Amino acid sequence: MPTEPDTQYDSSLGSKFIFVTGGVMSGLGKGITAASTGRLLKNAGFDVTAVKVDPYLNVDAGTMNPYQHGEVYVLKDGGEVDLDLGNYERFLGIDMHSDHNITTGKTYQHVIEKERAGDYLGKTVQIIPHITDDIKRRIREAAEGTDVCIVEVGGTVGDIEGMPYLEALRQFAHEEPEENVLFVHVTLVPYSKNGEQKTKPTQHSVKEVRSIGLQPDVIVGRSETQLEPETKDKIALFCDIPTEAVFSNPDVEDVYHVPLVVEEEGLDEYVLEHFELAEQALPPEERTREWREVVTTEKRDDVTIALVGKYDLEDAYMSIHESLKHAGFEFGADVDVEWVFADELAEGYDGQLDDVDGIIVPGGFGMRGTEGKIEAIRYAREHEIPFLGLCLGFQMAVVEYARHVLGLEGAHSAEMDEETPHPVIDILPEQYEVENLGGTMRLGEHTTVIEPETLAYELYDDTSCQERHRHRYEVNPEYFEAFADEPLTFSGTAGNRMEILELEGHPFFLGTQYHPEYSSRPGEPSPPFFGLVEAALELAEATTDSDTHTQTEVSH
Ligand code: GLN
Repeated sequence: MPTEPDTQYDSSLGSKFIFVTGGVMSGLGKGITAASTGRLLKNAGFDVTAVKVDPYLNVDAGTMNPYQHGEVYVLKDGGEVDLDLGNYERFLGIDMHSDHNITTGKTYQHVIEKERAGDYLGKTVQIIPHITDDIKRRIREAAEGTDVCIVEVGGTVGDIEGMPYLEALRQFAHEEPEENVLFVHVTLVPYSKNGEQKTKPTQHSVKEVRSIGLQPDVIVGRSETQLEPETKDKIALFCDIPTEAVFSNPDVEDVYHVPLVVEEEGLDEYVLEHFELAEQALPPEERTREWREVVTTEKRDDVTIALVGKYDLEDAYMSIHESLKHAGFEFGADVDVEWVFADELAEGYDGQLDDVDGIIVPGGFGMRGTEGKIEAIRYAREHEIPFLGLCLGFQMAVVEYARHVLGLEGAHSAEMDEETPHPVIDILPEQYEVENLGGTMRLGEHTTVIEPETLAYELYDDTSCQERHRHRYEVNPEYFEAFADEPLTFSGTAGNRMEILELEGHPFFLGTQYHPEYSSRPGEPSPPFFGLVEAALELAEATTDSDTHTQTEVSH
């Protein structure tokens, strides 16, 4: 990984805070805008962190449906958080903690627990000041020891759920010197039918912000193209900020280009000036340039990777998509992800995997789609297509091998089939009791010991790796002996837990019980993804002359 510049700023002065709100509608990419600004400040030598505020009542994202909310992102400390934290980790190159995701559930739970314990000494416990104080405390604690902390408030200004947070930010700003806090409002600037940029939605949303007592210092207009100078003037006039404080954030082909776009707009310089940090910042010519180099590598090749899953929603597998991109950057390759419905594969093979250069079977919970995933793995194994199985994908690779190579008919994971004659994947015996008491998930970073002279060893170039987990089931120790003979080997273990599997004689067949996708970063791709894309490129090259890599059908 490129070496990061030393922090220049004297942290004893306390953190600076960027509060980011969104207007008009959600899904504008305010998180990416915020993370991109953070990246530039990092490039300029500052230590940057972030806090994502999710105004929902869930305590964390652990139980949330990926189809509604996108993937559950897992932090090093085991926190199950909103996928936006993944963006912050990837853009800022940092590892965050669970307390960098503030939810209404967490805040209220804490305050109510304190109330029950009598900590409020008989006072009436209220949203203001008790909830707002707790929010402010959480923000300060998360920012501790860093130079700049970006606080993104999820949702849109005006949502009832977000009100206590905006009030907390208002108070926060009141308590801090002006140069320590910057409010950024990200809004939509749509086009009218006759191709004119319209500022009215922005004006309305800023009016809403101001009615809560907040005045944006910076407005970022999300639009298909750059904002016209007249558009900027108009926003400045009606929203009461200087024209220089209005920035464009046009559509780009890749989110990783957003830092480059906001840099061109001069957003970072404006922020540094506001924070009175311009002098401590590294001069532009000394700022790190690795980001630009990594994300703008010329794409000379392309490969297609099939993602065989349950939800046809990119956000539900966001970290996998990003990890593939990171690996692609290294090879100058465009990685095209082809969605394959696991359920459809189970109904009968219909050529869905004929033209792909690699197959990923991602993580998941529950029965739906598992037979299709098993079919995809069988196809990858029999047709020598590069394969990466992640968590459930790893477990299904074990099931597939047990059924079709070891001849253990009806083998399955006990999660999917309690009656299976061969529960090759099961709860570990020592976990049974804990499970009966309500269940525990194995979460967060754990060490895997890697066997030398294996594919895993080659990829990690080490005898161990630290990766993040989120699972309950494991390879059943009762079947270790059945699996003892090659070609399948468990090349990574943690005590009696099998963590990595690979297949001797196959161009690339790797399964991991953990989720390597959570620690992949631009410029620092995850080794299993790097290996998959490399193998896929080799396959693509070998098959350029023929139409498809195989004509044979998977037998059922
Ligand atoms: N459902 C499986 C388990 O609990 C796999 C989990 C996952 O893929 N994240 O072990």
